[in-house]
Amino acid sequence: MKNLYLLKNKEESLRRFHPWVFSGAVGRIEGKPQEGERVRVLTAQGEFIAIGHWQIGSIAVRVLTFEDEPIDHSFWVRRLRSALDVRHTIGLAGNPKNDTYRLVHGEGDSLPGLVIDMYGQTAVMQAHSVGMHVDRMDIAKALKEVMGDALQNIYYKSETTLPFKAELGQENGFLLGSTPENIAMENGLRFHIDWLKGQKTGFFVDQRDNRSLVEQYSKGRRVLNMFCYTGGFSVYALRGGAELVHSVDSSQKAVDLVNDNVELNFPGDKRHQAFAEDAFKFLDSINEELRVKNEELSSAQTLPLKGTEGAYDLVILDPPAFAKHRDAVRHAIKGYTKLNARAMEKMPSGSILFTFSCSQAISKEQFRMAVFTAATLAHRHVRILHQLHQPADHPVNIYHPEGEYLKGLVLYVE
Ligand code: SAH
Repeated sequence: MKNLYLLKNKEESLRRFHPWVFSGAVGRIEGKPQEGERVRVLTAQGEFIAIGHWQIGSIAVRVLTFEDEPIDHSFWVRRLRSALDVRHTIGLAGNPKNDTYRLVHGEGDSLPGLVIDMYGQTAVMQAHSVGMHVDRMDIAKALKEVMGDALQNIYYKSETTLPFKAELGQENGFLLGSTPENIAMENGLRFHIDWLKGQKTGFFVDQRDNRSLVEQYSKGRRVLNMFCYTGGFSVYALRGGAELVHSVDSSQKAVDLVNDNVELNFPGDKRHQAFAEDAFKFLDSINEELRVKNEELSSAQTLPLKGTEGAYDLVILDPPAFAKHRDAVRHAIKGYTKLNARAMEKMPSGSILFTFSCSQAISKEQFRMAVFTAATLAHRHVRILHQLHQPADHPVNIYHPEGEYLKGLVLYVE
């Protein structure tokens, strides 16, 4: 293993177990490591600090361990076993009503650059770093040992997550077994998972708890699930006794997926309809209807707009990450403000809004401020009922606060 010497006094954050070495902290390297190769990280004086995967870019090393130990089969087994222990502790692994959970969440499980989601007997494994890609066969072998018979297939899905410049070629396929079976169970509900082409590992496992909360609020409500993708929120809302559920996504593929998943759980249920439409266009068309209604009201009528028969009284906004990088933050905040204001404007008094941001670059406070601004623009009285976040199978490494990405608010809109 090649040695990498940090510049003088650049080991501070690593001593606090932050798992990244930034390229600006690198002094000299013995030899010329290949991207994805493991390196030993030392202080300028030569004191051992960590072992990690070397990569090209602003993060130069992603740390696997702060111990001077071999990265062998036993190492991967120990890391994966610890991840599985946590999923047992939180009641997700081995639960017959729920076979869908995240087994490995990158830095959160001290495996930077690696994601593994479990869907029944199939693990979908995703590398976000060249190092994890290089080590994928060793990891697959260790995973099989740790999971035993509970694991029959490993599908590797890294085509879109590996750095483009690494030129690793097509990187999707089974590393173990193969199965046409692709239905997973979440809290007793069933979902088709599109491993081959779906976003992330095929499903947004991270919204499980928040979907359950939507179910609790759905009885008798008219639900709008905006940015529905596979329709997780829609299916829970139907089970919760919603009067109607409308799912919206700009992608026709997503609309087909949500229809399939509704059919799988509630065959022939007429309460659900899905629309392939842009979110803002859809919200605008509801607003137009409201404006017409508002003009009919007496001139003495002041804001806020009161609800109409047709309006939705439970709205879910779960858009894609508006800010993928730090420099997009300002623009993203505007996007969240506009989206939430549009939605709130047309919600009848007494409505519930579930609103989310999955942008890692936007803090909880920034998101809350964007929603605050939206409430002001929409002239609505708003109470925060719940503050939501990622679930326990997406743990945050306490030394790596950057791992916190999902945040949500449940609002009571008057
Ligand atoms: N809520 C989903 C995950 C949402 S992912 C779940 O629980 O699984 C974000 C989705 O937003 C994607 O499916 C994408 O197709 C859709 N999308 C992106 N831009 C959009 C837009 N302008 N209008 C409507 N949908 C959009």
